[in-house]
Amino acid sequence: MASEVKRAFLGLGTNQGRRETVLAEAVRRLRRIEGVTVRRVSPLFETEPVGPPDQDWYLNAVVEIELAVLADELLILLKQLEKDMGRRPSQRWGPRLIDIDILWVEGETLSMPHLTVPHPQMEERAFVLVPLATLAPDMVLASGRTVVQTLAALDDPHQVIPYVRTGSIG
Ligand code: ATP
Ligand code: CA
Ligand code: CA
Repeated sequence: MASEVKRAFLGLGTNQGRRETVLAEAVRRLRRIEGVTVRRVSPLFETEPVGPPDQDWYLNAVVEIELAVLADELLILLKQLEKDMGRRPSQRWGPRLIDIDILWVEGETLSMPHLTVPHPQMEERAFVLVPLATLAPDMVLASGRTVVQTLAALDDPHQVIPYVRTGSIG
């Protein structure tokens, strides 16, 4: 196994259950994965669904990690995490309890049937770029542009709104 540790970013989303709790639980489980060290979690954003419109808004975040396993090993672990949390197969871009995508891995370009890195749609999605910009505004993406440059030129009509916690803070 490669012992090299790489910086990476994951995109998290949910539009089912108590969404804030779901994201917190997903991060808690990420922290327990061997080979994954969670460094930072972005603020949360409420986002308009990109898929079928008759579904609830999402809560999205981006997580910065240090990765000590290969990206395709990580994918297997993430799919298991999603399943363990209770995600069930559903229509494409339909409602889901938890979705965790590998957005970007330092120095990696992968194009396999089951895994594309960087994530092929990340530069077109406000729900990815807005939280990512809070962590890594100057990171250069596959296009050669930074996150903030990409966001400034973005033509994504879907709304992305900072999440205001409604529950009391314990
Ligand atoms: P999208 O990828 O457009 O955001 P989605 O997240 O809803 O769609 P899923 O049903 O969660 O799609 O995943 C479909 C498949 O995408 C996964 O089984 C996985 O093999 C593949 N995949 C390819 N590249 C990636 C990546 N970078 N991160 C996560 N999954 C990926
Ligand atoms: Ca996704
Ligand atoms: Ca996914």
